[in-house]
Amino acid sequence: MSTKRTKAMKMSALYAPTLKEDPAEAELASHRLLLRAGMIRKQAAGLYSYLPLAWRSLKKIEDIVRDEMDAAGAQELLMPMVVDGALWHESGRWNAYGPELMRMKDRHDREFVLGPTHEETITDLVKNELRSYKQLPVNLYQIQDKFRDEMRPRFGLMRGREFIMKDGYSFSATQESLQEIYDDMKDAYARICERCGLKALPVVADSGQIGGDTSVEFMALADAGEASLVYCDDCGFAADDEAASTKVAVTEGPGDGTLEKVLTPGMGTIEAVADFFGFPQNGTRKSLALIAEDGTKVVAIVPGDHELNECKAEKIFGEYHMMSEEELVEAGLFKGFIGPVNLPQGIRLVVDESLRESRSWACGANEVDYHFIGACPDRDFTVDEWADLITVREGDPCPHCGRPLKGARGIEVSQVFQLGTKYSEAMGATFADENGEEKPFIMGCYGVGVSRTLAAVVEQHNDEHGIIWPVSIAPYEVSIVPLDPKLDECAAACDAISSALCDAGIEVVVDDRDERPGVKFADNDLMGFPYQIVIGKRGLKNGTVELKDRATGDRVDVAIDEVASKVA
Ligand code: ATP
Ligand code: MG
Ligand code: MG
Ligand code: MG
Repeated sequence: MSTKRTKAMKMSALYAPTLKEDPAEAELASHRLLLRAGMIRKQAAGLYSYLPLAWRSLKKIEDIVRDEMDAAGAQELLMPMVVDGALWHESGRWNAYGPELMRMKDRHDREFVLGPTHEETITDLVKNELRSYKQLPVNLYQIQDKFRDEMRPRFGLMRGREFIMKDGYSFSATQESLQEIYDDMKDAYARICERCGLKALPVVADSGQIGGDTSVEFMALADAGEASLVYCDDCGFAADDEAASTKVAVTEGPGDGTLEKVLTPGMGTIEAVADFFGFPQNGTRKSLALIAEDGTKVVAIVPGDHELNECKAEKIFGEYHMMSEEELVEAGLFKGFIGPVNLPQGIRLVVDESLRESRSWACGANEVDYHFIGACPDRDFTVDEWADLITVREGDPCPHCGRPLKGARGIEVSQVFQLGTKYSEAMGATFADENGEEKPFIMGCYGVGVSRTLAAVVEQHNDEHGIIWPVSIAPYEVSIVPLDPKLDECAAACDAISSALCDAGIEVVVDDRDERPGVKFADNDLMGFPYQIVIGKRGLKNGTVELKDRATGDRVDVAIDEVASKVA
């Protein structure tokens, strides 16, 4: 049997160098407050030290993650952070990943990377070890520093280059098994957010061929978030604006299937596409999502009572000709509108023979005979998904229940993803199925941004005085603030309360510093301990102390011998 030994921390000894002034480089509340409360320090762009207070909170987040993962049957392990470059060549990501991947060579001139994520490592790890379907499924995770050479590291812990991630990977024999684990992980992720005190929305980041989602991002709601979302209060529908803009990116290509240049992710918004084609913007933005197809020809319907910019059309489509809507219907090419579109008068249609082979142009849909314009090199969309992705904006009717959608901004704190056989196939990681046939593992991956979660919590829980920690991840749950520590009575009360709290397993910091009350109050508020117990002369006369709830600001007088049980 083991018992946890708790001892009160003395503020005079605590390494938490606070700042009086707001640091100029910090735009976000979380960045500013974590610096000011002496919780983090920057070493170089995107590289931060976690000082004792932050580290305590981070460990609590990690423990919540562990608890939820273990409860869901996942097993923790730890892999090297440095990864053999050969594995990244094998998966194809050495070339595909781009400059975010930190590459290096050892003294023998061998290539390595600093792991930004560990699909290769784990696939290589289980390969040849998990041999039979009988050993599956297996779900493994680690909590580790990751490195991504982000183009714009910013906002403190929010977008660092070195950051803490929990990354998990599952290996299944069947799609049903993957689906089960994926659903469990999604539930666990929702609970992780909740237990950390985060208000977060699960946003469908990617949808599958049979309608269900294959990737969900958990977005912590915050005005400072980089992602813009729409959501429905009534039915829980949520979508990410960014998903639309990145997946609908228009490309300038020769039309032969190669992708020469993506005209920046922002090009993909419906407005940007319209702009690119030279359409007017008078409220017709939804009309662009209109394509019909006859199995060989892709037809783009473009809105407007104006002429299509023919020069651009030619550049994009190569050979093309225009047809009226009636002509198209007559030719049997018109298969219907996609999504809640309201077309203006004078629709023009572009029929492009050359698009047939051109996957970079025409994004083949999963439903027979539907194709969409816009580059989508990754995967296909169903008609419904496409409509979801590009048509919903704040104020639009919810595609599920019709109520008006609300807009919000969010911070991506975690993501679950059905990988399928992408890595197992590329890396030859197979198992023998029931018939003895070799099959690639069906994989899922699941990531939680641990250090980003810390920042997101501060973003959601702060006021003009500082951080307001949820109890579950507070560095210390209680701070005791004796106003006259040198006074015997005061010191005695402080010791008694602190011992009672420690005995109850509560983490306590005692502000024993020889400072003015105002300074102590300001620092304790800044550091955001959920409960403050203020011991002052006046109360001592009546045998009471003041218990302050940091979140509500409520203060109550409580008898000295009862205060520990009040917060326990
Ligand atoms: P983003 O869209 O913000 O760049 P991502 O989608 O690239 O994030 P994932 O590959 O899904 O990130 O990684 C899993 C989690 O790791 C993310 O949900 C996020 O919480 C966290 N994360 C990713 N990049 C960073 C970073 N640069 N700094 C801190 N946390 C990060
Ligand atoms: Mg990223
Ligand atoms: Mg992302
Ligand atoms: Mg992600």
